[in-house]
Parts: sequence; structure tokens; C-alpha cells
Amino acid sequence: MKRILITGAAGFLGSHLCDRFIKEGYFVIGMDNLITGDLKNIEHLFKLQNFEFYHHDITKFVHVPGKLDYILHFASPASPIDYLKIPIQTLKVGSLGTHNLLGLARVKKARILIASTSEVYGDPLVHPQTEEYYGNVNTIGPRGVYDEAKRFQESITMAYHTFHGVETRIVRIFNTYGPRMRLNDGRVIPAFIGQALRGEDLTIFGDGSQTRSFCYVDDQVEGIFRLLHSNYHLPVNIGNPDEITIKDFAEEIIKLTGTDQKVVYHPLPINDPMQRQPDITKAREILGWEAKVSREDGMKLTYAYFKSLSPEELAKEEH
Ligand code: NAD
Ligand code: UDP
Repeated sequence: MKRILITGAAGFLGSHLCDRFIKEGYFVIGMDNLITGDLKNIEHLFKLQNFEFYHHDITKFVHVPGKLDYILHFASPASPIDYLKIPIQTLKVGSLGTHNLLGLARVKKARILIASTSEVYGDPLVHPQTEEYYGNVNTIGPRGVYDEAKRFQESITMAYHTFHGVETRIVRIFNTYGPRMRLNDGRVIPAFIGQALRGEDLTIFGDGSQTRSFCYVDDQVEGIFRLLHSNYHLPVNIGNPDEITIKDFAEEIIKLTGTDQKVVYHPLPINDPMQRQPDITKAREILGWEAKVSREDGMKLTYAYFKSLSPEELAKEEH
């Protein structure tokens, strides 16, 4: 049985990856310190013979007994309000944490895939973003703690590949959504749906002309699964190129939820990227991958998940 370590296992993407690799017949070792994750995302796995969980902060030395074939390194705060609240931990998990995981991959002779992000492109001057674009990041801006941690993560991963011959994979993930996102994590989809469900106005930051391209979680997981098993060690964008302005997206959510909410405008956060759309030529050519789930279908599934939460969970929104 192949053994895979998944860091950030109790988070949104990590928990879906645990499910996928369990389904594929792997022995899955989840690791998380629960700083932004929640055990309820993986509690259904605890009864399984081929799942183990370690409560551990990966910025501290990481030890896993036995053989390891693969590592998926997904531990990191991912939402702007999270990484603005815990900036030092964000820098540490991307740097020290990644160093620990690469060291583990080296001694175990495991293949490691690290979760990078479209944020390495910053507020991009090239549109759509290809993997060749170097990006436009403000190192000392508030988002720099995340963006630079991820850029360092890519550099150290390439160095381990080049100098230690570790088998590495780098996925640049574009905005991904779906069930198990935290309602209060501040990202636009849980924020808007939570507001609609509570009967509050939807908060648009800036004038809403900034764009994002949203990828449903099942598509993202499929892309990651294919990249892990490919022979390609350079970064690959995985995302859905279907781009929309935040203002139009708010209108879509109002329609979807059948609520009568208004939109209100708040200041745009500093260095909030004005446009984002993945160029997925590489994913198509190398992995034979592209997103299959439309925004309409994905949003229906996501809305159904949030609607099923208890009133107490719904009320937990942070402002
Ligand atoms: P999430 O916050 O739901 O999950 C992150 C998980 O990592 C949490 O369970 C958290 O507790 C854990 N974690 C954080 N620091 C840790 C540490 N020091 N030790 C152990 N565990 C730690 O976020 P997510 O959306 O699932 O993102 C997962 C990964 O994917 C992150 O690396 C993120 O940067 C990347 N990513 C996500 C998106 C997206 O749209 N969801 C986009 C780009 C990149
Ligand atoms: N956004 C918004 N209202 C909110 C939350 C976010 O208008 O209540 C905007 C945010 O400024 C950004 C976009 O939605 O332009 C996507 O934000 P998110 O935090 O989901 O992801 P990221 O900025 O990391 O792509």
C-alpha cells in the first residue's frame, strides 16, 4: 500500500485530498496544528484502518515513522484575513515548514508536491498569468507575508530538486472553493454566502471591478492528483479560467441564494490584485487536465453545504 503524508489535512483542500487518496487506496497520514483547520473536516476518516492523524506544527522538526512514498505539503493559512492575523506563522510555515518537509522527503526518498499559489504573481501585469511570468509582488506590503513565503517555498523546493535530486512537484493553485471552506475565513465566497444567509448586505471591496477565476474543489483535486503522478517538476497553474468581476459575482450570489440583499462598498485592501485568470495551457498539455465543473454547478453545491450548517455555526462570522 502506498503511503502519503498530507500536511494541512484538517483544512479545506487538505481534507478533500485526504478523501481522494483514501478512495484511491492509499494509506493516508494527515498532519495539522489546527491553526485555521478543523478536525470536523476529517472526523469521518478516523474510523478507517488506512488513516492516521498527527496533531503537529510543521515548523517544528517533522518525524513520521515508516516508509513514505509521497508528501503533499498543504499546510499554510490561505485566506487574507488569516495570514494578516498570523503573519509570522505564515512566513514560518512557508519557509521553515517547507524546509522540514523537503528534508523529510529527502530521507524517505518520497516525491513531494508543494501547494503554491497564484499569489506568486502578485497584482499581475500580465494577463492571463502564464507560469513564465515572474510576478509583481510588494515584498513589504501586508500580503507580502503570504506571497513571499510561497515564493521562497518554490525556490527552496527547486533547490532540493536540483541539489539533492528530490522528486518535487509545484502546483500554483488559483482561487478554489467548495464545501468545508470556513464560513468566517474572509474569502469572498464564504463571506458573500454567509452574508446572504444571515440577511446582511454583501460587502464588495473596492468598486468590484477586480476579477477572480473560481475553480471547484473536485477539479482542483483532480489536477493535483495528475500533477503528483506526472513527470513534470516545474510549476503548473491549476485553476478554472472562467473569470468574473467581484461585482457581477455578488449579483450571481444574490440570485443563487434567492435573497433580497443589497451590496455595500468597503475600501479595497492594500495590494489586492486587480485581475486574475490562469493560463492553463501547461495543465492541458502535460496533464490532459482542465476544469469540468461550471461556476453555476459548483456554486449550487457550495451553497447547499453552507445552508446545511447549524444556526450557531452560521452566527460565528467574524467582522
Ligand atoms: P485552510 O486554511 O483551510 O487549510 C490550511 C491548513 O493548514 C489548516 O488546516 C491549518 O490548520 C494548517 N496549518 C497551518 N499552519 C500549520 C502548521 N504550522 N503546521 C501544521 N498545520 C498547519 O486553507 P486551504 O484553502 O485548504 O489551503 C491549503 C493550501 O493550499 C495552502 O498551502 C494554501 O496556500 C494553498 N492554496 C489554496 C488556495 C485556495 O483557493 N483554497 C489557493 C492557493 C493556494
Ligand atoms: N472580497 C470582497 N468582499 C469580501 C471578501 C473579498 O469584495 O467580503 C474581494 C477581495 O477584495 C478580492 C476578491 O474578493 O478582490 C477575492 O478575495 P478572496 O479573499 O476570496 O481571495 P484572494 O484575494 O486571495 O484572491
